[in-house]
Amino acid sequence: MLKIYNTLSRKIEEFKPIKKNKVGLYTCGPTVYNYAHLGNLRAYLVADLLKRFLKYKGFKVKQVMNVTDVDDKTIRESQKAGKTLKEFTDFYLKTFLEDLEDLNIEKPEIMPRATEHIKEMVALVKRLEKNGYTYRSNNSIYFKISKFKSYGHLSQLEKQDLKKGASGRVLKDEYSKEEVNDFVLWKAWQKEDGENFWETEIGKGRPGWHLECSTMSMKYLGEHFDVHTGGIDLIFPHHSNEIAQSEAATGKKFVNFWVHNEHLLVEGQRMGKSLGNFYALKDLKARNYHPLLLRVILLKTNYRQILNFIFNEFETARTIAEKFINFLINLDFVQNKKPNKLKIDFLINNCQNAFEKALDDDLNISQAFAVIFDFMNEINKLAERINVSQADKIKKFIFEIDKVFGFIENLFEEYKKVLKERIKSSAVKKLIKEREEARRKGDFQKADFLRKEIEKNGLLVEDTKEGYLLKTKNYL
Ligand SMILES: [Zn+2]
Repeated sequence: MLKIYNTLSRKIEEFKPIKKNKVGLYTCGPTVYNYAHLGNLRAYLVADLLKRFLKYKGFKVKQVMNVTDVDDKTIRESQKAGKTLKEFTDFYLKTFLEDLEDLNIEKPEIMPRATEHIKEMVALVKRLEKNGYTYRSNNSIYFKISKFKSYGHLSQLEKQDLKKGASGRVLKDEYSKEEVNDFVLWKAWQKEDGENFWETEIGKGRPGWHLECSTMSMKYLGEHFDVHTGGIDLIFPHHSNEIAQSEAATGKKFVNFWVHNEHLLVEGQRMGKSLGNFYALKDLKARNYHPLLLRVILLKTNYRQILNFIFNEFETARTIAEKFINFLINLDFVQNKKPNKLKIDFLINNCQNAFEKALDDDLNISQAFAVIFDFMNEINKLAERINVSQADKIKKFIFEIDKVFGFIENLFEEYKKVLKERIKSSAVKKLIKEREEARRKGDFQKADFLRKEIEKNGLLVEDTKEGYLLKTKNYL
């Protein structure tokens, strides 16, 4: 039974879906005005981990992730770039989808764009108007927080605290609000918005950010659904506002489980434009870091702990990845078909239970890694005696748990591809042949020299009882 920390109750709770075996999962998606940075990517990876684990446990998961393609930032930046809002946001949506693919984050089942759901958003505003939760000011429509009694529940901030907290952050154009924490549902058109507006029955303008998530989550997952994820920085005001809008409209509980991941620091510091530490995946790729190693880095810290990203972590991630790859290579090389009394099924079973138990415990991924490492160490000790069918079982098991980890099989396949390509080169083939000849003739000095030549081509040669093995060197 999965137990997970619910921000709503501030407790670890047993996860039970509303409908048997089905999970509706909503993840606050990107605002497509720039590349996603490491902090964003961590949040998407945490949602991906949760989704993959739920699927591993047999749940059918429907994940919705919104794409914010209209707001102050997208409009302002598209104007600066001299592009239409659509052209501009299409570009960053494309880079975002590439990031998901590079990081092997499963693409959400539905990725609705805000600009394609204006009609539904207008309908939600009208519903809130009818229920008496809104007021108009300078043609914009605001949500009146004082009407929604349980407003501070998720953030656990009292209304007085909210006022204090927000008073320093009141934006110039928001003085038309009655209270500082009231938020805009529908923003009236202003000259600087240019051609970015919708002519609707509630006026000429555009939706507020919070409204998008309430509208699109309820459209695709229903008015009451299972899990909503996001970074901890979204608890207030974004998620607090989503709850207020949705529950004020429907009169029902909006979401059962709120799952928030902690912050990400870059080399001990908060990310900030002035610090120049806003890394995007493309920056790391430009430095030749493999995206799946970033996946390992972002994955291996438990989601409710602050993650301090440092470049040295790529070394750790590489060691982890190589541990898995070498483990699988060795299983691939097993040729022994003799039966034995090794209790491989028992070891696999034990490990599988421990793995699931770790993740059931509020997605304790570091423990999940630990139990797999223990298992691999056990198997490595038995390596010489394992037979082909046992090796196959073990491999199958590793690929099974990789449905949750999401990097082992991809890296292994890539490894094999690189190996094949390197062996294919005619220069290497010649060297290998010459080395075999030298060995046959007992000229070990020459064989050794040729081994080093082969290494220069990115291949390691290991001599075995049956002959030799080739492995890829420095591939990650
Ligand atoms: Zn959202």
